[in-house]
Amino acid sequence: MGRLKVERADYAGYCYGVERALKMASTAVKSHEKPIYTLGPIIHNPQVVELFKKSGVNPIDDIKDVKKGTVIIRTHGIDPKVTDKAIDRGLRVVDATCPFVAKAQNCAEELMRGGYEVIVIGERDHPEVVGILAHTDGLARVVEEVSDIAEIDSAKKLGVVVQTTQSLTKLREIIAELASLAGEIKIYNTICNATTQRQEAARDLATKADIMIVVGGKNSANTSRLASICEEAGTKTHHIETADEIDETWFEGYECVGVTAGASTPEWLLDEVVDNISKIDKGTDN
Ligand code: SF4
Repeated sequence: MGRLKVERADYAGYCYGVERALKMASTAVKSHEKPIYTLGPIIHNPQVVELFKKSGVNPIDDIKDVKKGTVIIRTHGIDPKVTDKAIDRGLRVVDATCPFVAKAQNCAEELMRGGYEVIVIGERDHPEVVGILAHTDGLARVVEEVSDIAEIDSAKKLGVVVQTTQSLTKLREIIAELASLAGEIKIYNTICNATTQRQEAARDLATKADIMIVVGGKNSANTSRLASICEEAGTKTHHIETADEIDETWFEGYECVGVTAGASTPEWLLDEVVDNISKIDKGTDN
């Protein structure tokens, strides 16, 4: 009998922005005025959100009912008017917006002020995109897919920013189509390095492994994208949040299992998955 070979992707798990935000939240728990809230879940990982709830950090959707305490802005950033409102209400604001997201927000604002028609490539309803749009006073247009470009009118000057977790392939495809719509196009490639590294490492591993396991919140856009990339590489892929979801039958007939994790997945969840898979017997006699 033999064990499965388990390989971890070269880049997997927490990115700089998530680590920074979690550190800021932990500091807030120790030293800032209670109660402590996050606008939306601190990261898109239900297990981590639960742990923070136990230490008194609760996600809320709106600050309208908050009368005192501390509000943490998560990595995705928010509409600056909401920050102003929180300050006006006397709340302490801890801004954990990832600096790479802040760059995308600033680029969008700069383009809008420079007279460009601003295009944001990304998922319309994702909080990061909603926050970037707010930095253009809602004037920017969102392009999720190449097909959305049909609704965009020609313009003298088009300015483009990208949701930090989009893929370079998507950016290239959309830019190629936008090119015919304007005399001048200014593009800020605001895709974050952590995203590119995790996507490339996942793709590489998926081409070698027989099956891929992607660990992370089902509500995490960057984790779901890793799973799609592995599937696009033609490798059977399962997206799970915890080791409990592992089904031994998935691995029947396979030798090598690739494991990766989204930028919002803690190391301990990834370790548990790798440990559990490493213990599974291939079920074949050697
Ligand atoms: S993926 Fe990139 S942009 Fe998003 S939080 Fe992490 S470091 Fe920041």
